[in-house]
Formats: sequence, structure tokens, C-alpha cells
Amino acid sequence: MQFKDVIGQEELKSHLIQEIRNDKVSHAQLYLGKPGYGGLQMALAFVQYLFCENKQAKDSCGECPSCKKVTELQHPDLHFSFPVVQAIDKKSDFFLPQWREQIKKTAYFDLNDWLNEIDEKGRKPIIGTDESQEIIKKLSLKSYEGGYKVMVIWMAEEMNATCSNKLLKILEEPPAKTLFLLICDSQEYLLQTILSRTQIVKVPRLRVDEISNHIKVKFNLSPEAANSIGARSEGDYIETLDVLSNNHEHDENREVFIQLMRVCFKKNVIEMMEWAEKTASLSKEKQKIFLKYALHMFRQSIIKNYTEDQLTRVSDEEAQFLKNFSKFITGNNILDFSQTFNDAHYHVERNANSKILFTNICFKVMRYIHVA
Ligand SMILES: [Zn+2]
Repeated sequence: MQFKDVIGQEELKSHLIQEIRNDKVSHAQLYLGKPGYGGLQMALAFVQYLFCENKQAKDSCGECPSCKKVTELQHPDLHFSFPVVQAIDKKSDFFLPQWREQIKKTAYFDLNDWLNEIDEKGRKPIIGTDESQEIIKKLSLKSYEGGYKVMVIWMAEEMNATCSNKLLKILEEPPAKTLFLLICDSQEYLLQTILSRTQIVKVPRLRVDEISNHIKVKFNLSPEAANSIGARSEGDYIETLDVLSNNHEHDENREVFIQLMRVCFKKNVIEMMEWAEKTASLSKEKQKIFLKYALHMFRQSIIKNYTEDQLTRVSDEEAQFLKNFSKFITGNNILDFSQTFNDAHYHVERNANSKILFTNICFKVMRYIHVA
């Protein structure tokens, strides 16, 4: 993985490159941020730059033997630990073929995607006690190529307490030329003692333009479509992939949304009930995607109203609809709309009765839309 393959994050990239160029690499780093922000990608690009035999000013060369070995995830001094299902095997090495496969497919994935890859029964994966012994054993060996030995621990918050405790000593007094790269979604589940021994590298959420520029090229999208999807991704590229894979439903969502607004505006209770029933019959996943889509449309309406179009990130068809619709979303009702649809999303996830839920939404929308 080269830095150019990591989406956005230019500031962080140059900071990391500087660290290596100035020989100021700290031996234990904690990459902190949601998986969709790109922590794992960044760590892999960092390692490749570190090992590259022909470093360029802004990236590894991508061609030297070291670069090739890192790209294939076959470098003998690059080790990985990640959560695994203990009932299948207790050590990460057993799952390395799947790990390589997953990263080859896309390096933007989360624990759920990983679990889908390794266990059809969906049992909870952890980094356990046996793995900590593995880590210590691997790092006590000499490096094969005479440089750094690197241990990447993905989803470090999934280490169990024994594993964390066993690693404390080696984190405190690491063997020479040893580098720990811990990658972690949320620091709250990490032991304080681990945290205090690492240097935190914050991986911030991606900007909308970083995502939309990337997908415009990669998926050959129109600027409007790329912007619309970028704006709905919450700075998280995994979310982007989610939206993209459901993009054929985009038109469908728009129709459901338009219909809801129409029947509520007309105060036609029979049509409202029909709408609620139809929407409740969608799968939970589709319901959640629709609710997020609605939130996106409310946000874009407000932006349109208050910035005279400048910032709206919508597709052509959405723009057409918003032209007349956006005036119904104002400071008087935006908070109510947001709260209602956010709450609904929360409840769908927790298996609320969808028919009641969408009926409630209808009556609330009817009220809110008439106070604009
Ligand atoms: Zn190279």
C-alpha cells in the first residue's frame, strides 16, 4: 500500500513521512479513528515507506523488493495480529490467507466485514492470550532483513485483559528496532496502561470532497452523484461503500421520500396509512437506508435554503425535487425532523414494530411540514 492509495488525509501523511525522514519514529503508535477513516491503510503505507529501499519525497517507490513484499503482505519483518474466532483457531497466523484476501479486496473494512470473511456462524472474534505469546515470540527473534520488526495490531481494543497485560512489558521495554502499530476504533476499551505507553496518531474523519473526488474517478460517477454520495458518508469510506452498493436503490428511496412528503402535506390519512404499511414491509436494512436518506434530504434542503444553492450536494433528480420542496424545511422544523428520523433509525435497529413506527412518522411529518 502506498500513501497515494490512502484516501485523503494529506496532512497526516506528510507528518508520518517527516517522522521517518527525521528518524523520529516512535516505537509504539496508536492509530485512532473509525475503520472507514483509513487507519489500517495509513499504517500499511507507513510501513511500506519505512521499509522502502528507494524512498521518494512523498511516497514509497512501489517497485523495490521491500515494497513488493509489503504490498503482498509477505514481508518477513511485518507481522499482524487481529481479532479471530477462538473456536476456529486461537492465533492470527491461521487466518493470514483470509487477511491477505480481505486487504486485496479492499483495505477499508470493519470488524463486521472481517467476521463475514472468517466465520459464517458470526461468533465474536477477540485477540486472546495465545496471541499475546505469539506476539512476544515473534518480536524476540532477530529481524530477517536487518531493519525494523513491525507488529500491526488491528482492532487493538478487542484484546482481552490477559493479552493486554502480557503486552505491557514489551511495550515498555521493546527489543531494539521494534515497532508497534496499534489500530483502534475507540480508546475507551483499551487499558489505560496500554494507552500511556503509546503515541496517539489521530486519524480524522474524511472530508466530503476527499471522498467525492475519490469515488468520482474510481467508479466513474458524475460530479453531482459523487457529491451526493460523499455528503451522505459521514466522513467514513466504509459508509461510502455501503451507500454505493445500495445506489441502485437511490431512486427508490427518493420516490418513497417524495411520496411521504406528498401524502403528509395533503393530510390524506388513508394514503398515509398505505405509505406506512408499504414502508414497514421493506427489510430492516432498507428501512435504515431510507431513514438515512431522508436525513440527507432534510440537511440538503436546509443548506439550499440558507446558502442559495452553493453547498448542496445532490444528484440532478434530487435537485429538481428540492427546488420546490426545500422551502418546507426551515429553522422551525429541522430539529424535529432530524430527531424523529434519527430516533426511528435507532428503533429500527432495535427491532421496534415497524408499522407503528412508520405510522408515527407520518403523523409527525404531517405536523412538522405545516409549521415551516
Ligand atoms: Zn520501494
